[in-house]
Amino acid sequence: MLTICVSIAFDAAHYIPGHEKCGNVHGHTYRVEVEVTGELKEGMIMDFSDLEAAVKDIIGKYDHNLLNRYMENPTCENMCLKIFEELKGKGLNVVRLRVYETPEKWAEIKV
Ligand SMILES: [Zn+2]
Repeated sequence: MLTICVSIAFDAAHYIPGHEKCGNVHGHTYRVEVEVTGELKEGMIMDFSDLEAAVKDIIGKYDHNLLNRYMENPTCENMCLKIFEELKGKGLNVVRLRVYETPEKWAEIKV
């Protein structure tokens, strides 16, 4: 399968309600990787800058913000699910989505 991928970072704070360690407000540099597929048109699945703009349009609101304003329990998994749904809502044919909470820890949806 031929795909293209963009990788975009943002900084945000969150806390995990009821979690012993992560219940305190703290921050991460998140990274979102979005991989899409589709028919080739003039040699492209989609213009990289259009994909980048679509992803930034969704994650822009999270940058330098408190993720708990957008979801009750902003775990990496819940962030992944929410961003995936929003990207699908824009009509993007996402085949893989990763949300990194740290460079070593991420949640992933594979279609
Ligand atoms: Zn955290």
